[in-house]
Amino acid sequence: MQYSKFGEKFNRYSGINRLMGDLNEGLRKPGAIMLGGGNPAAIPEMLDYFHQATGEMLNNGELLSALGNYDGPQGKDTFLTALSGLLRDTYGWDISEKNISLTNGSQSAFFYLFNLLAGKQVDGRHKKILLPLAPEYIGYSDAGLDDDIFVSYRPDIELLDNRMFKYHVDFEQLKVDDSVAAICVSRPTNPTGNVLTDDEVAKLDVLARDKGIPLIIDNAYGTPFPNIIFEDVTPFWNSNTILCMSLSKLGLPGVRCGIVIANEEITQALTNLNGIISLAPGGFGPAIAEHMIKSGDLLRLSETVIKPFYRNKSELAVSLLQQSISDTRFKIHKPEGAIFLWLWFDELPITTMELYSRLKARGVLIVPGEYFFFGQEEQSQEKWQHAHQCLRMNYVQDEAKMRDGIAIIAEEVTKAYANA
Ligand code: PLP
Repeated sequence: MQYSKFGEKFNRYSGINRLMGDLNEGLRKPGAIMLGGGNPAAIPEMLDYFHQATGEMLNNGELLSALGNYDGPQGKDTFLTALSGLLRDTYGWDISEKNISLTNGSQSAFFYLFNLLAGKQVDGRHKKILLPLAPEYIGYSDAGLDDDIFVSYRPDIELLDNRMFKYHVDFEQLKVDDSVAAICVSRPTNPTGNVLTDDEVAKLDVLARDKGIPLIIDNAYGTPFPNIIFEDVTPFWNSNTILCMSLSKLGLPGVRCGIVIANEEITQALTNLNGIISLAPGGFGPAIAEHMIKSGDLLRLSETVIKPFYRNKSELAVSLLQQSISDTRFKIHKPEGAIFLWLWFDELPITTMELYSRLKARGVLIVPGEYFFFGQEEQSQEKWQHAHQCLRMNYVQDEAKMRDGIAIIAEEVTKAYANA
């Protein structure tokens, strides 16, 4: 088949496709221990809640109305009004429904945003999205219509007690010149569970505003929903910020609902893109979320069910890992949010890509860390070993599977160290 340039690029076997493929394959393979993907946990209270809420919506006609009608290209307007009211009341942000647009999952919002801003410009120049702290979300890496649309920077590593560490943005290195179209960070970060401090966000905001470029904050795990964030930090938005949210980690990845909060110009641009690409974003997710806002359940469940569920799970996973792997070269990024642990095996004699293959052969799926360091070409003259020594595992499985998976990771890592 003769494909176009677009066809060639998007037909590649990308990291994200491999990850989603593994996830799907694992789901069908009995006994597989799925510590790889980003599927949220099936939290019993949330499942019960969705069961009951969709039952009510079926009875009162809301469900069929959402399924039987196209919304406008900006997304379900009653939801946009309810959500802008909620964010205004909760945070005092100066927004209305004109600042929110919906997409079919926040993944597609990133595709729209990156390509709206970066890549080949009308004057022929090439611009990039600056990721101030790599490792960063693998799902961004293949999203450019043009190649080479990211530039990312290595972090400072702060070593903490109890074999923990934390990444910080290394502001001395960041070069925000005219080739940068926007700055983008996930907060909390997938894959590391890092949460940028308020101070770091404030500095990035100043850098972005000074250059007249937007600051994109990926809030897929953040506040006020799903609220999988264990640090006390301040949610951030102003008219130069593009804040991307999602219903997925609330427990609704199947509804594919992404939410973009931005100034009116960006909102209009995304609305126009939606019309061309998908006519309208799906209406089912926004209908459930609107129901949850009106009943006061959205923030209540995020705070009292979702956050404690993930916090307990992450604490359990950390303690299992620390008990199972005593080597002092093993460290864990301080879990501050999101649904993953980021493990660092310093001086590991094999790459984590090789470790991934060995674990997969034993039925345990994790994601090798190498995937998360894209955009580093300008710094790649000296190979950074750290990028080959980390892996991402989710901690959403049940306790028995976590124990079994961690025991196998411990065995394989011990073997790899011993054979150095
Ligand atoms: N951003 C981050 C940091 C994620 O981890 C994910 C999914 O795992 C997404 C965005 C995309 O999520 P969705 O398209 O389901 O909204």
